[in-house]
Amino acid sequence: MFSGKTVLVTGGASGIGEAAALRFAQEGATVVVADLNVTGAEKVASAIIAAGGKAAAIAVDIASEQSNADLFAECADRFGGLDAAFLNAGILDAWGPFENYQMASFDRMLNVNLRGTFMGLKAAMPVLRPGGAAVVTASLAGLLGLPAAIGYSASKHALLGIVKSLAEPYARHGLRVNAVCPGSVLTPMVGVTDALPLVDPDALDAPVYRGSLAPQHIAEVALFLASRRAAGINGLAVPVDAAFTADFGDAN
Ligand code: NAD
Repeated sequence: MFSGKTVLVTGGASGIGEAAALRFAQEGATVVVADLNVTGAEKVASAIIAAGGKAAAIAVDIASEQSNADLFAECADRFGGLDAAFLNAGILDAWGPFENYQMASFDRMLNVNLRGTFMGLKAAMPVLRPGGAAVVTASLAGLLGLPAAIGYSASKHALLGIVKSLAEPYARHGLRVNAVCPGSVLTPMVGVTDALPLVDPDALDAPVYRGSLAPQHIAEVALFLASRRAAGINGLAVPVDAAFTADFGDAN
């Protein structure tokens, strides 16, 4: 699906980004694994190369405009541009009631998840080749309120405003911008630090229920949105939530 193409994944050292990096590589892409955790990014790039794929690791702090600019300038220099950018890095650092919510946490959420991804898109769009696509990782908390993580939810809601605002103007340049909105995924972000079966050929055959999504479930949808098979999809927020929002849940 991505043979001869170059794809960048931010947050590629862990969880959803790591699973996506491995899957893009399996589909033939040269993968740029970008992360604040450069050691983790190098491990993922090495695993891809050991499996016969092509990858490079680059350090980035998405919260820095200069770091975003440097990352995409390096992609332009080394690879002549990108065919897809999966802007997936994000953080969740506060869990608790609104009354106790610290403004420092609110600022961190908006700084990394919203401002960081905005700056990433700003640097990425000029580097995408015609026919290319940006995919950002928002969240189900970008579609529904999450009272226990209100700053996180606000950052992801606002991110969808950016995605929707960019879609039509960039369509004129042959580019697409979409968001994937995961439900609850078993990654280090939610405290799951056991070795995960990040890319498991059988994972997609197993039943999946609400809070038990695997990183690969999200990665597969990101791959689709980044591919030409999704050429008709632009400006959309795609939930991947295993029926979380389908009904009244436990109240049923
Ligand atoms: P994770 O913690 O496993 O991975 C996040 C990665 O982002 C890490 O490798 C981390 O080093 C990197 N990162 C953090 N801040 C960064 C920065 N400033 N610059 C560059 N890299 C940075 O988490 P995950 O669950 O894989 O999360 C990936 C994305 O999915 C995030 O945007 C998150 O908000 C979103 N998401 C996760 C869930 C979930 O349940 N896990 C649900 C919805 C959305």
